[in-house]
Amino acid sequence: MRRTNQFVVRPRSEQDAELLHELLDASASLWNELTYERRQRFFGELDGSVWDAPRVHDRYKGILGSAAAKEVKRKNDEAWRSFFSLKEKGERCFPPGYWGNEEDGRDLRWYGRCDQYTLMMGGRSRLEIPVGSDLKDEYDHTGRLRLEVAGEPKWDGKQCRLELYYDEFSDQFRAIQPVTIDTSRLDSPLADETAALDIGANNLVACTTTTGQQYLYHGRGLFERFRDTTREIARLQSKLREERYSSNRIRRLYRQRTRRRDHAQDALVRDLIERLYDEGVSTVYVGDLTDVLETHWSVRANEKTHNFWAFRAFLDRLACTAEEYGITVEAQSEAWTSQTCPNCGSTTDTIRHQDTLTCSCGFEGHADLVASETFLRRQTDVSRPMARPVRFEWDDHSWSEMSHSHESPKEVRTDRSIHG
Ligand SMILES: [Zn+2]
Repeated sequence: MRRTNQFVVRPRSEQDAELLHELLDASASLWNELTYERRQRFFGELDGSVWDAPRVHDRYKGILGSAAAKEVKRKNDEAWRSFFSLKEKGERCFPPGYWGNEEDGRDLRWYGRCDQYTLMMGGRSRLEIPVGSDLKDEYDHTGRLRLEVAGEPKWDGKQCRLELYYDEFSDQFRAIQPVTIDTSRLDSPLADETAALDIGANNLVACTTTTGQQYLYHGRGLFERFRDTTREIARLQSKLREERYSSNRIRRLYRQRTRRRDHAQDALVRDLIERLYDEGVSTVYVGDLTDVLETHWSVRANEKTHNFWAFRAFLDRLACTAEEYGITVEAQSEAWTSQTCPNCGSTTDTIRHQDTLTCSCGFEGHADLVASETFLRRQTDVSRPMARPVRFEWDDHSWSEMSHSHESPKEVRTDRSIHG
């Protein structure tokens, strides 16, 4: 079974940081050059198929080392193969693109073959990766770059391809390391708890578990920044001269906007799945996609929020991360869950105003949390009482718990403009 370690790595000196930066930049440059050659052929600017592109990676052996240069090429091969296979199935897809560019900055990323790097666990974990002979000479280095690992990687097993990248928002180098583990060693064998999610715009995710936990991830601040960037893009576009379709500044803003959202989504999914894993959850229910798009989106959201939340991408991320932890994600219809009173079961006597659901029977509660609880009760028995909900907000780096002063649903007044 495949699991994935994610951890922060730190260079041990200023010089090592420089070297690591150069290594990741060369790797991105190789990716971009090869991608350019292949796209030229794919779009018919040059003769031949994408597989006829020159051996660009040979020129990077000196910096990256032969194996790492080949690994980037292999990764690029895989991207094209998966593109062609989607295309054959008639699915919507795009040919592999660039990792940024030289002018605006490349996405610093590097891949290491499974036998190329060493991860030493325990006490003070360390990671060692190879550098090419040119860099070795330039930096008077041993040829193996040793990095500190922050914290203890969670999974121990047969190591697979390592990915290293620079995360500009946290200003940190991060590693993603898949490992194959022996299934007989999986922990939490008693895990048979269940959770249900309500996914929205003001509150990105509301979650209820059969262990009586409730989590709420606030999306308002994140959405406001997304909207501000969108407005700035529109302002810049209106100032462009007629013959120019876009500018570097606009392209950079688009990329920034997408990356910021993806970063927050990634972090949310990971935070949530880790909590669910610790609670012993083995199954997560989410609203059926068409269902969600109809009930939540066509009525409540406009084009902008849809774009912002990138719902399909979120579900993909959720499924991938859940799989790492051995948690199953199941889609079920959640029709009416957001209008049902948990107290009397009525769907007609309830009123939703902003974040609050009230019922003529006297019930009042947080609409999204109630919806996730109703959704959960429809899938399974919930015998335990609900604990006080835990609320999270995004601070640009991580999701952190909000203070208790925000507890009452009445106090959380949200922006109605999101619902368009
Ligand atoms: Zn009621």
